[in-house]
Amino acid sequence: MLHRLNALPDGFLTASARELHEVLPGPTLIHLPGRRHPELFVAVLQHGNEDVGLVAIQQVLKNLHADEGHPLPRAMSIYVGNVQAAKHGLRRLDHQPDFNRVWPGTHEHIGTAEHAMCAQVRDIMAQRGLFASIDVHNNTGLNPHYSVVSGLDPHTLHLALLFSRTVVWYRGTYGSMTGAFADLCPALAVECGKPGQAANEEAAARFIDACLHLTTFPEQPVQEGDVDLYHTMAVVHVAPDVDFGFGEPLAALNFDPRLDHLNFVDLPVGAVFGHTHLAAPLQAHNEAGEDVGATYFRTVDGRLTLQRAAMPSMLTLDARVIRQDCLCYLMERVPFEFVVAARGAPAGAA
Ligand SMILES: [Zn+2]
Repeated sequence: MLHRLNALPDGFLTASARELHEVLPGPTLIHLPGRRHPELFVAVLQHGNEDVGLVAIQQVLKNLHADEGHPLPRAMSIYVGNVQAAKHGLRRLDHQPDFNRVWPGTHEHIGTAEHAMCAQVRDIMAQRGLFASIDVHNNTGLNPHYSVVSGLDPHTLHLALLFSRTVVWYRGTYGSMTGAFADLCPALAVECGKPGQAANEEAAARFIDACLHLTTFPEQPVQEGDVDLYHTMAVVHVAPDVDFGFGEPLAALNFDPRLDHLNFVDLPVGAVFGHTHLAAPLQAHNEAGEDVGATYFRTVDGRLTLQRAAMPSMLTLDARVIRQDCLCYLMERVPFEFVVAARGAPAGAA
């Protein structure tokens, strides 16, 4: 299933995500030489409708004249994920698993061809040696630029701060690339806002370029004032049998039509997500996979209300994405003592 190349194929730097299937026959790992080792590993188009990573890597490679044979500042391997779904502008095709849920660590997709392919990619990269692993995504709601990490060690946080001061700590996405690489090197996913916006593509390109030019990770710890750190407490789904809409009073669950304006907003107990007469139209699960729906949501007088103060991320108005992925994540701010503890120093140490 996996294709491998040791040079940029013709047309790679100019193809759009929808055209890329004319250049690459499917998921492809492209190894490019560079002056420093070990390699930077970059994943793009794991979700076929999220083209920011492809556009950004094209910009970076053009600026560094990689297409004219110039070596990069650091060797880089590029994993191009769901080329088939990208042809149709979709996150994934209906018969496919989610490409960012099939990496080693997945429970759900063991035995699939996609899982075998991703295990192979991880083995190849582990053998070649890794400087850092970055996975580039868009999202469909209104969100600031932020990264998702599964560890709080200083190198991972320094890598995150090259992109944004907003960092989300989450270990609950089983089978994500970030989770699969976190024990090999600093690893993260960057969420670059909505597709098709030049500012988001430029931010992703600046980040990849900064990673390529970074010689070593600073050894000094990240300081409290440098980072806004959140911990994802739960992932929220609409129950599969519940009919929902946004600003549709006839739907069994009628969400606020501006729901995605609540992303990264501190919400108090009692905040209203929408209207319903169903007792539990939403399901929420914590990192351990336990059902915490009743902890976070309750229907009160026909209003779906938050039962515990939290900050949502990834809220989207896209019904297909809600069914294929989730409604949102719920986060809480992480006290900086956690970061200090994660680097093995006593709380309060500088
Ligand atoms: Zn994505």
